Amino acid sequence: MDHACSKRRFLGQIAALAGMTAAGSIANDTHPWDVIVVGAGTAGMPLAIFASRRGARVLLIDAASRIGGTLWLSSGQMSAAGTRLQQSLGIEDSPQEHYDDVMRISRGTANPEILRLAVQNAARAADWLMDHGFEIRPGHPVLSGGHDPYSKRRYFWGMRGGLSVLDILERQLQQEIECGNVTLLLDTEVTALMQHRPGGEVTGVFAAPAGGHPRAYAGRSVVLTCGGYISNAAMFEQLEGVRDYGNTVNAFSRGAGISMGVAAGGYVRGQECHQPLFNAVLASDTVPSPLLLHLLTDPVYRPAWEIWVNIRGERFVAEDTPSFDDKEKALARQPEERCWVILDDAILQAAPSLSREWSKSDIIAAFGVYPLFYKAATLEDLCALTGIDAPGLRATVSAYNQAQAGGMDVLGRTHMPLPIARPPFYAVRMQGYYLLDTAGLAVDSRLRVITRSAHPIPNLYAAGELLGMAALQGKSYCGGMSVTPALAFGRLLGETLLPIARG
Ligand SMILES: Cc1cc2nc3c(=O)[nH]c(=O)nc-3n(C[C@H](O)[C@H](O)[C@H](O)COP(=O)(O)OP(=O)(O)OC[C@H]3O[C@@H](n4cnc5c(N)ncnc54)[C@H](O)[C@@H]3O)c2cc1C
Repeated sequence: MDHACSKRRFLGQIAALAGMTAAGSIANDTHPWDVIVVGAGTAGMPLAIFASRRGARVLLIDAASRIGGTLWLSSGQMSAAGTRLQQSLGIEDSPQEHYDDVMRISRGTANPEILRLAVQNAARAADWLMDHGFEIRPGHPVLSGGHDPYSKRRYFWGMRGGLSVLDILERQLQQEIECGNVTLLLDTEVTALMQHRPGGEVTGVFAAPAGGHPRAYAGRSVVLTCGGYISNAAMFEQLEGVRDYGNTVNAFSRGAGISMGVAAGGYVRGQECHQPLFNAVLASDTVPSPLLLHLLTDPVYRPAWEIWVNIRGERFVAEDTPSFDDKEKALARQPEERCWVILDDAILQAAPSLSREWSKSDIIAAFGVYPLFYKAATLEDLCALTGIDAPGLRATVSAYNQAQAGGMDVLGRTHMPLPIARPPFYAVRMQGYYLLDTAGLAVDSRLRVITRSAHPIPNLYAAGELLGMAALQGKSYCGGMSVTPALAFGRLLGETLLPIARG
């Protein structure tokens, strides 16, 4: 423990504020906190850590019974340019190139101001993790992994996915709690912001312990780092324009930040950038359903042997396209963002497994066991089981088989090893799914929550997924561009808020 921390620990002991739970730990909150952080997840934890290191009194509140937020589920993939890791490997890279790559992949749809801020602060966040023992996967950084590739190797993740990030944050946060500058309230939900009128100064929050009554906490700055709205089905449908059939995310991502930010005078932007992820099979038709497995749709690892059709029985993308983004955009145009992988017995026997997660025999055994795996003696019967339009599928299969024989596909597909002709016939339903939300609270380049007329709401800030995927990745998925900006913005606010807070 460093000297500064020892000194703060002493002061903290005097103040008697340290504690992992709410129970009786807050002696007096008439004296405002320097910073109130709403959400102890990917963005909130570094914020609390860095604000504490600058001597701020920080109140960190989380509705869950443990810290970490979405890091418990996340793959924890990050991207940063100009890191010491890259330098040690002789990779020349810069925030400008990172910025250009995201703008290229997103076709210019990311928010220039917020993206610029993220790429400029990403390397510091990555270096900081490395300095504290982050265990990176062998061979990283890489160009890509599940999303369209960067032009430089700047994409990396840890041995335990999001948990590798959480391990570091947890240790660092614990030190600050022990120092006495950070007080952590778990099982406590922030229900509203303290403010006289929308757009006016925010002076604290109201927060309620589980089953208890809300209590007021005064603060000089309030930062909303309470994640997205992806577990709030109604808000998701309203903002994204589609239903979320999957259940793949943190149950606490309920949109509290959006509701409180909007009630405070802020607004939501980026809805138009909605885009599903491609390759998931859900466990069942129940809504929402857990995810059963991911199919291999990257031709680098397994070029498709099957065709993919929508409910009308139509193909909608060349199944061997290398671009994740092209597939995701094509799926977004299909009814209910879903499609069926269609194959016959010859393909089932000859092709490699449809998924990296299951062996070929697992896949064969899945038909007849899992509700979204279908098998039938004829294409017509397959349509009856799946709901796919029978004349549509018959026409599509016939056209595909002709193309397969002649070597020329209307969608430009080149990998067509076998026709779809030998019964029985099979279908597996793939569903578009979402790991983070698209729209987010509007902020300025200092991460201050702003009104529609671009006025910052005094003392109110936001970071993390609450800013929305659209701000940082636009209408696309760009590798690592949610975890890294959350960490980077949390740290940045932790480093910069105090003078404003005490100013
Ligand atoms: C399965 C999965 C895989 C992913 N993989 C990647 C990836 O590889 N790379 C990437 O960049 N992104 C990935 N993401 C997205 C990324 O992990 C998240 O966007 C990011 O971690 C969110 O960080 P956050 O700090 O904004 O929110 P969170 O980490 O979710 O933290 C928010 C915290 O706020 C708390 N909270 C919520 N409401 C309240 C309230 N009213 N009062 C008090 N507390 C509240 C929550 O309990 C939570 O602890 C993935 C997401 C999922 C689900």
